[in-house]
Amino acid sequence: MISPVLPTYTRAPLSFKKGQGPWLETDAGEMYLDMGAGIGTCSLGHAHPKLVAVLEAQARRLWHTSNLYEIPNQEALAEKLVEHSFADTVFFTNSGTEAMELAVKMARKYFSAKGQSERVEIITFEGAFHGRSSAGIAASKGAKMIDGFGPILPGFVQVPFNDIEAAKAVIGPETAAILLEPIQGEGGIRPFGDASLKALREICDEQGLLLIMDEIQCGMGRTGKLFAHEWAGITPDIMTIAKGIGGGFPLGACVATEEAASGMVAGTHGSTYGGNPLACAVGCAVMNEITSDGFLIDVSRLAGHLRQGLEGLVAGHPDIFTFVRGSGLMLALGCKVPVMDVVNAGYDEKVMVVPASDNVVRLLPPLNMSTEDLDEAVWRLDRAAAALERKLDCENNKGLQA
Ligand SMILES: *Cc1c(COP(=O)(O)O)cnc(C)c1O
Repeated sequence: MISPVLPTYTRAPLSFKKGQGPWLETDAGEMYLDMGAGIGTCSLGHAHPKLVAVLEAQARRLWHTSNLYEIPNQEALAEKLVEHSFADTVFFTNSGTEAMELAVKMARKYFSAKGQSERVEIITFEGAFHGRSSAGIAASKGAKMIDGFGPILPGFVQVPFNDIEAAKAVIGPETAAILLEPIQGEGGIRPFGDASLKALREICDEQGLLLIMDEIQCGMGRTGKLFAHEWAGITPDIMTIAKGIGGGFPLGACVATEEAASGMVAGTHGSTYGGNPLACAVGCAVMNEITSDGFLIDVSRLAGHLRQGLEGLVAGHPDIFTFVRGSGLMLALGCKVPVMDVVNAGYDEKVMVVPASDNVVRLLPPLNMSTEDLDEAVWRLDRAAAALERKLDCENNKGLQA
């Protein structure tokens, strides 16, 4: 019999009643160290006092009015995003997928408003993840995501990961934009690298294309800059944000330059909940924290510390781990054993990491963790790896005896 909740997820048999910073408490009172932070959403950890305070205060005042009316919290958050990024304008959504939908629509509308309605095609890279909507799965082209779901939304061309020449080669009279995550998240924490981002910016400028960046996972301070593309010294035309901006409250945004957004006039797009007062109150508090003096410098410092710890794990457990990669507090450990073995061994040691493609585990911890908690996480992963080694030894011995 089907479960009351549609069984589309493979869930770990863990359930939590409470969180505090990077710690989660199970129903049975066991404490887990959360190095996944709700897949990078709880950017300031669980139950951050400032976020709780603004959410509580807003909850007592007003929950929702809709976008038929002005929403001051939305305006305040948009102003902050505009002040701290390349963007001139912001549309708020409830999720990353919805932000991506608008990014695709905006790019197409941009050209159609300029009388070039043939320009609809968007170039993406293998391993991309842009959400589960019809446009999102068409952009990603992952077999599990598209098989059986009928005609794929046309207008997406995919080239191999980080193959800039291949991207250049498929540009034609119908191309509108190039879309990428500066660091692929679900794809296995795979960075494009500054040189590639610069090259893509140049190509887009030469060919009059829009550059769309999906910073839903790598943005909002995760890499030690507010947005990951800043490391390359370039800017996109359109960018999607979600995950970390809500600190665990559902919130996303599609931001753009005035030029790229020029087709999006009144009536061309909308959302009932998008940018609601509760979400934007929390979003403002998150932005205030992440853009506060020294916050991002601390992220880089913590990142260096964690990276060192993880390099130690790779050196100490060469039969389990193969490499560390990523940027800032968006790091991956390559696994020599099946990735779920590592995730499960982590659960046994009460540390949570997140699997991703390419057989890596992801670490996306809260950006404000203490070095003590980071060390604790590395120790727990060390014990998890040791347990996996003992298991491997056991299996090898059995193999020898047989
Ligand atoms: C999570 C994610 C999405 C989808 O966001 P949802 O909030 O799950 O809709 C899109 N792109 C990237 C890079 C993501 O990490």
